[in-house]
Amino acid sequence: MITVATMPLGGPSLPQERRLVTAIPGPRSQELLDRKASAVAAGVGHTAPVHAVAAGGGVIVDADGNSLIDLGSGIAVTSIGNAHPKVVAAVQEQVAQFTHTCFMVAPYESYVGVAEALNRVTPGDHGKKSALFNSGAEAVENAVKIARKFTGKQAVVAFDHGYHGRTNLTMALTAKSMPYKSGFGPFASEVYRAPLSYPYRDGLSGADAAKKAISVIEKQVGADNLAAVIIEPIQGEGGFIVPADGFLPALVEWCRANGVVFIADEIQTGFARTGEMFASDVFGIVPDLITTAKGIAGGMPLAAVTGRAEIMDASHAGGLGGTYGGNPVACAAALAAIDVFENEGMVERAREIGVLLKGRLEALQASDARVGDVRGHGAMIAAEFVDAETGEPDAALTAAVAKACIAEGVIVLTCGTYGNVIRFLPPLSTTDDLLNEGLDVVAAALAAH
Ligand SMILES: *Cc1c(COP(=O)(O)O)cnc(C)c1O
Repeated sequence: MITVATMPLGGPSLPQERRLVTAIPGPRSQELLDRKASAVAAGVGHTAPVHAVAAGGGVIVDADGNSLIDLGSGIAVTSIGNAHPKVVAAVQEQVAQFTHTCFMVAPYESYVGVAEALNRVTPGDHGKKSALFNSGAEAVENAVKIARKFTGKQAVVAFDHGYHGRTNLTMALTAKSMPYKSGFGPFASEVYRAPLSYPYRDGLSGADAAKKAISVIEKQVGADNLAAVIIEPIQGEGGFIVPADGFLPALVEWCRANGVVFIADEIQTGFARTGEMFASDVFGIVPDLITTAKGIAGGMPLAAVTGRAEIMDASHAGGLGGTYGGNPVACAAALAAIDVFENEGMVERAREIGVLLKGRLEALQASDARVGDVRGHGAMIAAEFVDAETGEPDAALTAAVAKACIAEGVIVLTCGTYGNVIRFLPPLSTTDDLLNEGLDVVAAALAAH
């Protein structure tokens, strides 16, 4: 049992250092991993074999007192840093006031405030409305519900390499079978898949890739049947794939001309992550609907659909919602987090981090042909690892490098359809020193394999 007395307080005042006092995992984490193995369903995996007791700035402290450099932010969630003081204060205040009334039973101001903030900060200056949910997958499910109700049509197009969640409809929208879908079907119907722009592997211009995708959509689905197109402007789990210039604007234009709702899934890319408040801004597109979650509330579970008021209002009263959706504690956290995103230089910090990460990884690429591609925007950067001779994806090398990094106290995440991408999603509250030290460890791990 870990006692409170041994637990450091999280947040930015934690010493910002990599400090290994045991092997990873240490004895206390190992004890907890054993308990996890016997108590928690085997399907719930973990990346780092540690158990966290505190986190903040750019580090996670484990049960043995090891301080690990965090290059993943709990999958792009703690962008403003773990236990940010403003979030902590907002949560503490709210939790002592009331924890739940159900917004559909007795509404409260913070939910309305989050909706107003989302309507203001998301791309486009048209009239917008929002609805709040608990998880990214739930937001995606609701975006599709809303688009179907608005258009009176049923089909949905998602893309190769896309990731939209683990519920039944979002598994159908997700491309990759293992581990997300395998054995979990049958999946929701009326979901179709179009080819993505993947410049490193398809060599197509944005215009040509869009033409190819639109042709598939027209021939295999037809605009008359199509309610919505859903796409991550930069794909997350699929491998941080940045579409070629012009691909997304062409899709948006086709959707608009054909009465199809364009949904940007910005659950991973949203809230300053890409060096813009939203990745749609990177490409100059204005989605009809946008789904958000992950970074929105400093680590508290919250998600949203935001979009054109006439689309958002298509549902009859009572058609949208959920018991916990827009929980007051999560809303208080989101208001504090959005304040930090807007007023503490997070967009600028994401850009600086992008320059540092890209510079370091491109230097690695120049000296090692196994680093096939370096891509991304802002604090969402990835390296794709390949066989130096054939250019084929090298998942084994990627897994070995990631594992070696974690053993050295640097938490990195892998991704990609071919499992050959290491993605860098550091908290924006991290320091340049931690980033450089983390990348030193990555470079050493690569050199050793
Ligand atoms: C994580 C993610 C989801 C699912 O969000 P959950 O909160 O895990 O349900 C959906 N879309 C994208 C792009 C994501 O990155």
